[in-house]
Amino acid sequence: MNKREMKDSYTFEELREIIADLRGENGCPWDREQTYESLKKCLADETEEVFEAVDKNDRENLCEELGDVLLILLLNSQIASEEGAFTFDDVITGLCRKMIRRHPHVFAGEKAATPEEALDRWKEIKRQEKAGLIR
Ligand code: MG
Repeated sequence: MNKREMKDSYTFEELREIIADLRGENGCPWDREQTYESLKKCLADETEEVFEAVDKNDRENLCEELGDVLLILLLNSQIASEEGAFTFDDVITGLCRKMIRRHPHVFAGEKAATPEEALDRWKEIKRQEKAGLIR
């Protein structure tokens, strides 16, 4: 048994521990049997629920549905971690590096006065990444 108390708030680290517990030896049969393939439909469904919350202008529901999408992302990362493929820290690090790299107008003193300029810069940096010119 994985003993967890109900609290008013939790940290991201606690969330990661809960997800690991769900997939662990004494975890949940449903969570334990999920795969990348089975989670594809879940991610599509939960993403659709995010869209519905946006369309209904329902912030309370949006908060819940964003959590449901995050759950699926964390389950995917947990599976990858169990395989030894990558961890959620790797996901976070890769995303942080990408955001810093693709926003030189925010983090490296360059200029982008309009959304169009920022998008053009993003596309150009992405092109250079794909060409192996930067990483
Ligand atoms: Mg949902």
